[in-house]
Amino acid sequence: MILILNAKLMNPQELWKSALAEIQLNISKANYLTWFKNTFIKEIKGKIVYIAVPSSFSKEWLQNKYHKMITRSLKNLLPSIEKVQYEVVSAPEIKRYKTSASLKKSRINNKINNIKEEQLNLLNVDPITNLNPKYTFDNFIVGSYNELAHAAALAVTEHPGSKYNPLFIYGGVGLGKTHLLQAIGNKLKKSRKKLKIKYVTSEKFTEELVSAIREQKMSEFKKKFRNLDVLLIDDIQFVAGKDKVQEELFHTFNTLSEKNKQIVFTSDRPPKAISSIEERLRSRFEGGMVADIGYPDYETRLAILKAKNQKTQDLVPEESLKYLAETITKNIRELEGALNRLIINAKLKNKTLSLEETKKIISSLIKTPKEYISPKKVIKKIASFYDLPEKDILSHSRKKELVKPRQIIMYLLREELGYSYTNIAEKLGQRDHTTVIHAYKKISAEIEKNPVFAQEILLLKDLLYNK
Ligand code: ADP
Ligand code: MG
Repeated sequence: MILILNAKLMNPQELWKSALAEIQLNISKANYLTWFKNTFIKEIKGKIVYIAVPSSFSKEWLQNKYHKMITRSLKNLLPSIEKVQYEVVSAPEIKRYKTSASLKKSRINNKINNIKEEQLNLLNVDPITNLNPKYTFDNFIVGSYNELAHAAALAVTEHPGSKYNPLFIYGGVGLGKTHLLQAIGNKLKKSRKKLKIKYVTSEKFTEELVSAIREQKMSEFKKKFRNLDVLLIDDIQFVAGKDKVQEELFHTFNTLSEKNKQIVFTSDRPPKAISSIEERLRSRFEGGMVADIGYPDYETRLAILKAKNQKTQDLVPEESLKYLAETITKNIRELEGALNRLIINAKLKNKTLSLEETKKIISSLIKTPKEYISPKKVIKKIASFYDLPEKDILSHSRKKELVKPRQIIMYLLREELGYSYTNIAEKLGQRDHTTVIHAYKKISAEIEKNPVFAQEILLLKDLLYNK
């Protein structure tokens, strides 16, 4: 029997209700509640259905994750529909709808609607310079702990190649080395457009060298690195023990510095503390300016959080920031990560976070996760989040929709549970550990590049800790 409905026979409310009934069957309850709860059909204009959503954040999600499913269900019910669009509506409007649909009232903060998606476009890494425009001097907070490194970096942008050459910046994990290094590149790119600038991690440098040797393209490799005006090498400590790389680096360095070209290194430790490194290279590292980055004090931590919370201060209040700044002290990346979790939680709840909620969210971050989550649980949670059977995710299928969650599981096992690559390979059924390394790198890179994906991962991390 074919049942044909038309728009006149079915009002938007009923249409959406029926579509939701179908959608509900296809996704987990948690996802359904999270993403569909405050939605309704605003209007049907000709062949287009406009779905009202409570925030730009949920719009993003529906568009990226559920668009196909939504379109399919609506079309099944009403074949004349050709297009589905999402529209962020104000809290009062949702309220009106809810009352009219005699649903429960709920407080919705409409300020969230103003959250811009500009973030999304910001993160385009330039393929030639490898510079990410999000790292600038403007958004780098200076305190006494990083004053010297900041001043030296700034001086380099004013007198590239002459003032501090090389500049060697060192400091612990997550304390702003990459940010500063990239900021040098970004500033120079703007102020001196002609300069040939390149940012590489020492690992990337190594990879490129290895493939140049294998493919007998050494002259191209040399040209690429020795014709630069500014070479920015991140995490130089990883060349320790790699003789061939050190040799090539040494010659690259000499060629560039003879021509007064600027070189900046970063490292997680001072030159003296890098073991298994050739003496001649070490003395090059020390030959210019060496600047360290220490740990930020409370005031600076708070200032950093405030700067990063500017657009979301309605969601995460100052008392929450203070609590964060008191709790996480040694790593700005962690501080940022924790703030992002607060923001995402507030967005999901669509309201300002209380201090209580803040503490709860942060405590799940600080606890050593091993005691609380098992690999089994990670697999289970991820499978249910993506509405996929566990056994499909754990299979060896190369289907895209399975590979991604599988890689995310590997990433989380490494990142949250601290499992070794080999261990993860074992847990997921004798996969080669290089697959795991590849997955970890892939997901990390995606997080860096794509803020929507980064939020997805944050959300997943949260799900792991919430029962
Ligand atoms: P590192 O390279 O030292 O491990 P990063 O440069 O990657 O650390 O910094 C980690 C995160 O913290 C980045 O998102 C960076 O933008 C941010 N960050 C670090 N230091 C500062 C600072 N002084 N001001 C603002 N953000 C910072
Ligand atoms: Mg770094």
